[in-house]
Amino acid sequence: MPPATGARCGIHPEMAAVATCARCGTFLCGDCTEVVGESPYCAPCLDVLRKSAKPSWVVQVALGLNVLGVACLPCSMALPLPSLVAGLAGVLLGSRELRRIRDGHGPERGITQARVARGLGYFNLTLSLAWLLMLTLSQYLP
Ligand SMILES: [Zn+2]
Ligand SMILES: [Zn+2]
Repeated sequence: MPPATGARCGIHPEMAAVATCARCGTFLCGDCTEVVGESPYCAPCLDVLRKSAKPSWVVQVALGLNVLGVACLPCSMALPLPSLVAGLAGVLLGSRELRRIRDGHGPERGITQARVARGLGYFNLTLSLAWLLMLTLSQYLP
């Protein structure tokens, strides 16, 4: 049954439209509708959105934390806790974002930031863990 408006899918003229693309306004049938959040999009618009979307703020925060973590390493040698936390955040959030981008849910423009955040995260994590290990060992050594 076509809707009262008689609108048809822009790609499948034989199909009744169930939605319009939130970006370009093309009529879409159920097969053509890609829902992101609450809004329906056509496939080409989804592609454009994904490529032009801003990197997620979570990754920007993880990246910033890890830059700080690297900068703080020399001055936090007594207890490298901030760098450790930053490293953990970078590895976890960076990997999560890379997975999202690979699955097509994340913005492709954020891939470099996610990679750098993860790389710096491993760096911070390794250095702070090594340092913690040395601190612990030095307690037991004469
Ligand atoms: Zn569209
Ligand atoms: Zn269609």
